[in-house]
Amino acid sequence: MASDEKKNKHGQLKTIIPLPMPKEELQELVEVTKDWALMHGAAMRSKSNFCEDSLNFAPFVLLPSPFPRKEFNRAVEMQIILNELMHKVAHNQSFLTSSLQETVLVDDFTGKLFKIYETIQDEGVTQPLSLGLIRSDIMLETDCNNPGKKCKAHAPYCCWKQVEVNTIASGFGWLGPASGLIHRFVLERLGLTDKLKDLPENHALKGLCEGMVEAWKIYGNNEAVIMFVIEDISYNICDQRFHEFEIQKINRNTKVIRRNLTQIAQTGKLSASNELIVEDYTVAVVYYRAGYEPGHYHSQKEWDARLLIERSQAIKCPSIQYHLAGTKKVQQALAKSGALEMFLSDKKKIEEVRGVFTGLYSLDFDELGDQAVRMAIESPERFVLKPQREGGGNNIYGDQIRDAILKIKENKERAAWILMDRIQPPIIQGYIVRPGGQKNLEVSELVSELGIFGLIIGDSTNIMINRQVGHMLRTKTASANEAGVAAGAGALDSPYLV
Ligand code: ADP
Ligand code: MG
Ligand code: MG
Repeated sequence: MASDEKKNKHGQLKTIIPLPMPKEELQELVEVTKDWALMHGAAMRSKSNFCEDSLNFAPFVLLPSPFPRKEFNRAVEMQIILNELMHKVAHNQSFLTSSLQETVLVDDFTGKLFKIYETIQDEGVTQPLSLGLIRSDIMLETDCNNPGKKCKAHAPYCCWKQVEVNTIASGFGWLGPASGLIHRFVLERLGLTDKLKDLPENHALKGLCEGMVEAWKIYGNNEAVIMFVIEDISYNICDQRFHEFEIQKINRNTKVIRRNLTQIAQTGKLSASNELIVEDYTVAVVYYRAGYEPGHYHSQKEWDARLLIERSQAIKCPSIQYHLAGTKKVQQALAKSGALEMFLSDKKKIEEVRGVFTGLYSLDFDELGDQAVRMAIESPERFVLKPQREGGGNNIYGDQIRDAILKIKENKERAAWILMDRIQPPIIQGYIVRPGGQKNLEVSELVSELGIFGLIIGDSTNIMINRQVGHMLRTKTASANEAGVAAGAGALDSPYLV
């Protein structure tokens, strides 16, 4: 751990203004920015002090964090390649099946998703189109052992590496742009208007919602609705509702309804022509903001609802094959040699994508799996151990990897996990402002994770729309393992391009 910290020190990126700020100026700025954030919907429902009728501002980093322009642009440009890749992976039955075959036997959740996928493939797909609202998450790497020339050129960091690609409930389409708005406000307040040009435009909300409206139009029934599949309690309510409001702004005839899986199970049915009917609504587009973790399925009824939706004519975001394509196991399978070549024909594209992968290792019961087990036991600090889960808080780090691996080493459950090289992002100085009336805000050492949003619509043979639509930046204290904003350690941020 100590040597990692030392390495990170080399990778410091310069802040937008020298820190710390004078105390009084800081206090005044924090106070007004908290109010601004709250009053502009950069907010969430509190988990610890829940009340449906009140909001807290979402934790945010006071000043935008530096991010190398070249790497930012490269991430933005690569998004349409990643969209295409994920789309093609989602439509390749033999790749999904072979990648997940060990995992579905031992991971009940992925197994159930896969069962739905198989059922649909056997019955015949009712709706060939998928709506992909994807978010590719990346971190800058300071410990770049990739021999590619490009990587060496940008010291103190060398390049960015992919953390994961989300294909379900890719949130922060609103809170991403909102963070940029907070920082515009802050820079204006500080009289730093000359720096505004270095905050990239961010139209994620508009881009994602245009995708949903586009899918709704393709469905071709003016009376039909877009249904958001939601959790029982939506903590991240601003992010979700702003999507709804934006849809209405783009096309006032597009109605949005919000239902959880239990409600859909109670009233959902298929018409004679397999239209999805929920209560009296015909559903054109299903947008999942839930359904990505076992806790969202209280009983078999919720699973039945998922299958019902999948059997219907509604255009799904994501369809079941897209959900599976976004699993960690498939990400690991894509990093195997020869895998990308199955999906991308352009050599340059293949090289670019391979260059952003960091080491990913299967824990299947074979020689490579055994080798990965040995590596993890020997130097756990070099890795992250990941199960097939989404939504943050599920991974294992540091010494706990060794304990976990020793526990599952001989157990068939092992194949439900993957091992990944731990990315060592450069350290940034900054202030994280959290709700709850902190006193004496101090400069902290932080690290960031950038998410790039992609929109893709197509079927197994044709891609109709493929766009990059915006970004989000989340920043956490350097010592924290994960960056979930609602979960605690993470904070809204936006890039200041350097
Ligand atoms: P989830 O689908 O739950 O978001 P992730 O793979 O994104 O799972 O992991 C959650 C968090 O863990 C990330 O946001 C990041 O902060 C951290 N993390 C994941 N993979 C790595 C990695 N390879 N190196 C460093 N940190 C990582
Ligand atoms: Mg994820
Ligand atoms: Mg993630």
